[in-house]
Amino acid sequence: MDLRYTAEDVSFRAHVREWFAVNTPRVRLTNLSERRVWHRKLYDAGFVGMGWPKEYGGRDARPMEQAIVAEEMARAGAPGTINGLGISICGPTIIAHGTEWQKEQYLKNILTAEEIWCQLYSEPNSGSDLASIQTSAVKQGDEYIVNGQKVWTSGGMIADLGILLARTNPTVPKHQGISYFVMDLRTPGVEVRPLKQITGSEEFCEVFMTNVKVPAHDRIGDEGQGWRLAQTTLGFERGGNTLSRATRARANLDRLIEVAKIARRDGRPAIDDQAIRRKIGRMLSEVEVLRYTGLRILSKLEKGQRLGPESSVDKLYYSELDKRHQELMQEILGPFGQHAELPPELRLRGENQEGLDGSWAYNFLWSRAGVIYAGSSQIQRNIIGERVLGLPREVRADRLAAS
Ligand SMILES: Cc1cc2nc3c(=O)[nH]c(=O)nc-3n(C[C@H](O)[C@H](O)[C@H](O)COP(=O)(O)OP(=O)(O)OC[C@H]3O[C@@H](n4cnc5c(N)ncnc54)[C@H](O)[C@@H]3O)c2cc1C
Repeated sequence: MDLRYTAEDVSFRAHVREWFAVNTPRVRLTNLSERRVWHRKLYDAGFVGMGWPKEYGGRDARPMEQAIVAEEMARAGAPGTINGLGISICGPTIIAHGTEWQKEQYLKNILTAEEIWCQLYSEPNSGSDLASIQTSAVKQGDEYIVNGQKVWTSGGMIADLGILLARTNPTVPKHQGISYFVMDLRTPGVEVRPLKQITGSEEFCEVFMTNVKVPAHDRIGDEGQGWRLAQTTLGFERGGNTLSRATRARANLDRLIEVAKIARRDGRPAIDDQAIRRKIGRMLSEVEVLRYTGLRILSKLEKGQRLGPESSVDKLYYSELDKRHQELMQEILGPFGQHAELPPELRLRGENQEGLDGSWAYNFLWSRAGVIYAGSSQIQRNIIGERVLGLPREVRADRLAAS
């Protein structure tokens, strides 16, 4: 690992820190229009799509500059952009594989969040085994007729457009029969139904498509290339913002320490309990490991190297760490960890919390999701075993039964 902050990096960090100190909203953003305003502010400051090429509205920013903004954002506890999937996955895929018309049509509005995007991949029977998707797209003249159902569509209820995987050829091996489209969710035949989660919020949706007309000029890449393109976008998704995760995890731990000095156990401040101190010490050291993992990734990216299958090690580590830490925090906080309405001195984020949203309980419930999305922990272990360690390929139970 070889990382040195240049004088420009140091002064850029100072500028970014100052910007977030002045501009971070003091109250929680509760509705879409407030989040749009915040997104626009980030965009105007040049903090959205920083890694995108200048010709498409980005800054061609180095990985280090992007990491600095992500870290300072986490440090300030600032809300994220409203069009995360559009900026990190959909836009970069269009930049890499789209036609000039598609670039012209879509990229600018992704950055400004005038159009919000979602990812229409998973289906009720196709998650980890994504190549088995059943949604069909049948060519008729200069359009495709799409039928099928997607599920777990993050942000589906606020999205205008989505990147869609659909089967265009059911007669060839499953990976070869998939194509990649842009689908406008405002088209007749699209029905979006929100799903309520354990946290009480509705961030995911089911999306039903009945005879939806998708123009052929909205296919990205050639017919049958969808699987290869989907691998590109999963690559973007796993690229990771590990450093900012470590910063956020550290901020939560620092807050836990403050609360443990106030919350009482057996008549004394919880922090005096040896078992609690041991747990906090362990979490602090694990977050430090996460930070060094982030720096190693950054060092690689700064040298212009791409992240290979070893990014699975990163995904597995941070998601399992978060789940483990949220469980430990619940053990330490006891009943305080479950409450949505705590006095400000015991809350996760002081005044900037409303109900369950932004609470210890919310983070605990949400941490289960990290070990599932963007490839579950079991899938990451398979990738690490096969592609990083070179172990024999997994033998799937269905193939065993057939042999
Ligand atoms: C927070 C969140 C956001 C999401 N957002 C989106 C989105 O925006 N768009 C979208 O398309 N999808 C989204 N998803 C869906 C996500 O991609 C899938 O949940 C994920 O791929 C797992 O698929 P599944 O839920 O069908 O589980 P399954 O694939 O059915 O897996 C069930 C269990 O079996 C295990 N398993 C499966 N195959 C193997 C194997 N070969 N070896 C060992 N174990 C295995 C899994 O690890 C898991 O524990 C989201 C999911 C979450 C949790």
